[in-house]
Amino acid sequence: MSRQNITILGSTGSIGVSTLDVIRRHPERYRAYALCAHSQVDRLFAQCQEFHPAFAVVRDAELAGDLAGRCRAAGLPTEVRHGVEALAELAAAAEVDAVMAAIVGAAGLEPTLAAARAGKRVMLANKEALVMAGELFMHAVRENDATLLPVDSEHNAIFQSLPADFARGLAACGVRRILLTASGGPFRDTPLADLRQVTPEQACAHPNWVMGRKISVDSATMMNKGLEVIEARWLFAAPPEMIQVVVHPQSVMHSAVQYADGSLLAQLGNPDMRTPIAHALAWPERIDAGVAALDLFAVGRLDFLPPAAERFPCLQLAYDALHAGGTAPAILNAANEVAVAAFLDRRLPFLGIARLNEAVLQAVPALAGDSLDDVLAADAEARRCAGEMLRQGSCA
Ligand code: NDP
Repeated sequence: MSRQNITILGSTGSIGVSTLDVIRRHPERYRAYALCAHSQVDRLFAQCQEFHPAFAVVRDAELAGDLAGRCRAAGLPTEVRHGVEALAELAAAAEVDAVMAAIVGAAGLEPTLAAARAGKRVMLANKEALVMAGELFMHAVRENDATLLPVDSEHNAIFQSLPADFARGLAACGVRRILLTASGGPFRDTPLADLRQVTPEQACAHPNWVMGRKISVDSATMMNKGLEVIEARWLFAAPPEMIQVVVHPQSVMHSAVQYADGSLLAQLGNPDMRTPIAHALAWPERIDAGVAALDLFAVGRLDFLPPAAERFPCLQLAYDALHAGGTAPAILNAANEVAVAAFLDRRLPFLGIARLNEAVLQAVPALAGDSLDDVLAADAEARRCAGEMLRQGSCA
């Protein structure tokens, strides 16, 4: 078997590092062809030293000059590029077999779309791309014969629990419901009154998963689950009412599918992203991910609860945006990125995230269109509006 060339968008992040760990275990199968980061040059240089990629990408010319100098001095074969165009080019390059889409946030949309348009195997962690431009993205996948493999652990579990031909329609496959599990995050049982004072450190201390800061905060507000509902809607062509969120504190059952005959198929495993990453890399084969087998005796019990609406208002906002359609999910996503950044910066209290998201969703009119221009315009307007509301302190 010839080695597959992999481009990793977001190689210095939590998913990127886990992807390189799986690649490290299978040098005969995979080659890190292009490693793309934003600003963490030290970490990217260390990755270049170990994996000898053909290309590395950073944010701007200054960082690229710094990294190129270090690569030259170390005698590495790596060509250093910079900027958004370089990301899209290396996601779509003819030499590339598969792309790990693991940039955080809206910045991941264009390079991930470029990979789909080039007909690549797209391993999708960057849920924001589907949230913003679900219809456009799925159209690009179909039209260009790309292979879309979900890396988000829940969607990967659903993918594994569905029949191979699910694209002919969930109802036709006898699917009744998709059960999307959620840990409930670090504040599942915190008294509501105490949520007013929570700090970024507390919000980022997820009980089961180690993740980047943005998704950690999204898990604490359950905006992450809301974004995942929208992601599932597009990935599996699932009507929103078919997707039920189930709080499952142990994070061992990663999601499930209920069928017409009463069967419930689920995927279980330890909470370690290397499992869905290895699944997406090797599908339809299975490879070692470096993850310990799940010890059911150690787990002992699995609990399931409905999500508390008053605790997690962001979840309902996601259903509202889905029902509104058009650019509404892109507006919600952009508002949330601004709100989370402000919270991490201590400019907005934790409960202000949901307030700002709701206010922006109401203030910015959603367009019916879903061209890339429409989506990017909605994203920009929502960011402008959220920034203005932050300055006025109206959601604090
Ligand atoms: P991290 O914050 O850990 O990493 C983000 C990566 O994106 C880094 O490599 C960062 O580069 C890069 N990046 C940030 N901004 C830009 C930009 N403007 N242009 C190009 N690259 C950029 O995030 P995670 O790995 O946690 O998450 C990545 C994606 O995967 C998110 O969409 C998240 O929702 C999804 N996901 C993550 C899971 C997890 O367990 N972590 C689970 C399921 C989904 P640099 O380091 O140089 O700044």
